Amino acid sequence: KLVSREFKEENTIVQVNGHQIGGDEIQVIAGPCAVESREVLEEIAGELTAAGVHFLRGGAFKPRTSPYSFQGWGEKGLKLLAGVRERTGMMIVTELMDPRDTVLLCKYADIIQIGTRNMANFRLLTEVGNIDKPVILKRGMSATIKEFLMSAEYIAAQGNEKVILCERGIRTFETETRNTLDISAVPLLKNLTHLPVIVDPSHAVGRADLVPAMARASVAAGADGLLVEVHVRPEEALSDGPQSLRPEAFAVMMEECRRVAVAI
Ligand code: PEP
Ligand code: MN
Repeated sequence: KLVSREFKEENTIVQVNGHQIGGDEIQVIAGPCAVESREVLEEIAGELTAAGVHFLRGGAFKPRTSPYSFQGWGEKGLKLLAGVRERTGMMIVTELMDPRDTVLLCKYADIIQIGTRNMANFRLLTEVGNIDKPVILKRGMSATIKEFLMSAEYIAAQGNEKVILCERGIRTFETETRNTLDISAVPLLKNLTHLPVIVDPSHAVGRADLVPAMARASVAAGADGLLVEVHVRPEEALSDGPQSLRPEAFAVMMEECRRVAVAI
């Protein structure tokens, strides 16, 4: 298998505009769940830049459980993200849900995200296998590690080996947290594959108060980076407010993760 450690021994480092994912430094990708307004996005981006973040996340196409929930602003949202990139130099990470939007997203995104609900959408995986952009592939909420890696293989088999794996919590019997963070997935994946491995503690626990501890644990377990939801006013967020960190808490988390990274 192309993604296996047996096939390639040395770690894959994904390069994005002079920044590396999978290299010596932990990369943090942060931002709101969804792109909301220009004002809120710029406020968040300003806070993140001050905290040393180079990658801004934000959904323009949102995979919502209910068809009546906010679905994202589509291209208008992508344009807001592009505006932030122009002003701040931050790189943009946003989710692709439909192969028909691939060309559109590639105009605006530096990294394409495939969400947990689409991990086994093989047509979509084949599609992003044929583009020349890094892809963050999130683990399906009920997917085994083997299935997760086979989905990464779908992308790599088409020629795109710039795949970043993201553990984002799996479904268990526990209801106190939104999902259960499978921390063992980090060292396991690092053993089985040469691809970078990042963790999304926000969707894993679904509660802002638990996110920093899970972020620290992820770094300690060997993650190459984090994907974290941050909002200036979580109570007003159009989606995932309860799990979004305020900038102050996020800055503390960043500092703690830096300390963990040098300690290990
Ligand atoms: C997200 O990152 O905004 C998201 C929807 O995550 P997931 O696909 O892991 O639920
Ligand atoms: Mn979200």
